[in-house]
Amino acid sequence: MEELREKLRAIPGIDRLLAIAATQADLAVLPHSLLVQTLRRSVEIMRCRIKDQQISEVSSDDILEQARNILRQVKEPSLKKVINATGVVLHTNLGRAPLSRRAQARIADVMEGYSTLEYDIAIGERGSRYSHVTGRLCALTGAETAIVVNNNAAAVLLVLSTLACGREVIVSRGQLVEIGGSFRVPDVLRQSGASLIEVGTTNKTHLHDYEQAIGPDTAAILKVHTSNYRIVGFTAQPEDASLVELAHKHNLPLIEDLGSGTLLPLAAGGWHEPTVGERIAAGIDVVTFSGDKLLGGAQAGIIAGKKKYIEQMKKHPLLRAIRIDKLSLAAIEGTLLDYALGNPVEDIPVQHMLHTALTDLEKRAQKLANDLKPLAEDCDIAVVRLQSQAGGGTLPAVDLDSYGVSLKPRNLSTASLEKKLRQQSTPVVVRIQDDRIIFDVRCLSERDLAQICGIFAKLGEGAES
Ligand SMILES: *Cc1c(COP(=O)(O)O)cnc(C)c1O
Repeated sequence: MEELREKLRAIPGIDRLLAIAATQADLAVLPHSLLVQTLRRSVEIMRCRIKDQQISEVSSDDILEQARNILRQVKEPSLKKVINATGVVLHTNLGRAPLSRRAQARIADVMEGYSTLEYDIAIGERGSRYSHVTGRLCALTGAETAIVVNNNAAAVLLVLSTLACGREVIVSRGQLVEIGGSFRVPDVLRQSGASLIEVGTTNKTHLHDYEQAIGPDTAAILKVHTSNYRIVGFTAQPEDASLVELAHKHNLPLIEDLGSGTLLPLAAGGWHEPTVGERIAAGIDVVTFSGDKLLGGAQAGIIAGKKKYIEQMKKHPLLRAIRIDKLSLAAIEGTLLDYALGNPVEDIPVQHMLHTALTDLEKRAQKLANDLKPLAEDCDIAVVRLQSQAGGGTLPAVDLDSYGVSLKPRNLSTASLEKKLRQQSTPVVVRIQDDRIIFDVRCLSERDLAQICGIFAKLGEGAES
């Protein structure tokens, strides 16, 4: 006991540590309060180690070194860039769409100072936050008007709260989906104050199912894109034209949650993603979709369609609670500009990645394999043909052909190499398949490829020493 007390007493005091820190360039520049706080934590850690008999004494240098470790952790951001080698283009856990240069530039411009967010330059008075994108969205989709909110879940909630609160909404049983575990159509409907009228069966819903459900309390018919699954086999949904006619005959809005909502035609594996313009042209009254899925912009929910419905939403108090912030709005405007200027497949990363030719992916994989071979001599490396997914609930159940590099370390388990890649200052997120690391090259830029090689060069040096 006495011995332990003796050891603890021997730990240098804060004043002494501060005096030494003042002579060391990296610590001397720190604000006094941060330095004191860090040294206290450092001393506390050392006391615990002595008590646990992990160490028997500590020097001032030990404590300062520990303080430097703590400071490194304090400075390290938690939300940071990663390299996405999963091949999943719209990976919700990895932040969905990377932004285009134009979108990034719009954000940089707007965040630097004040902006025209709600200020109308022409008249020198208060303007509308939505005005920056309404015209562009209408031009690109053919809608009468449009607004943008925080995300698509919020968009659906606003649409239903405005048009159907206290009344009934008819939905096909085949479209009562759950997306990403937290967006469930029945729950969102309930939250909006509307009641759900399910019609049809899981695989088949006919026009007469909808027709029979229409009553005096019906407020709307809702269609939902079955984003993350497909019903195959004997299935049926009524033709758009007849459902539109039915809704309009009863003076009801036909609403569609498109989920991804692409502006460009996109087809793969026999599946065609309907474009927003096609849905508007088909006569859907209100469509909602995400800003950070196939559109390729920032997190946002876009509501486009008929003025008579969307004008009502602009007056709903919920709109204020779910409004889009200026940085996301700037990114959405930049992305819409990419579409308007006519080169979206080149300019918008998501579109670019989805449209990359298979031969280009093969070349990219070949190059990565060739570059890695001399750097990772203790690994078995091969170019492999892969199947990847668009992600974000687009092109459900469709595999996109891709290429990648498959790698198996000989002196290390696959799991420990995966962990090393994940723990880099810019983490690399990979797939593991048949006990091999897989780098799908679809989402890897030139810079990412160089960075991956850099990591292997560093790991190789570590192994030699
Ligand atoms: C992704 C998705 C949503 C949720 O969109 P967020 O922008 O993530 O809020 C809602 N409905 C469908 C059909 C979706 O695919």
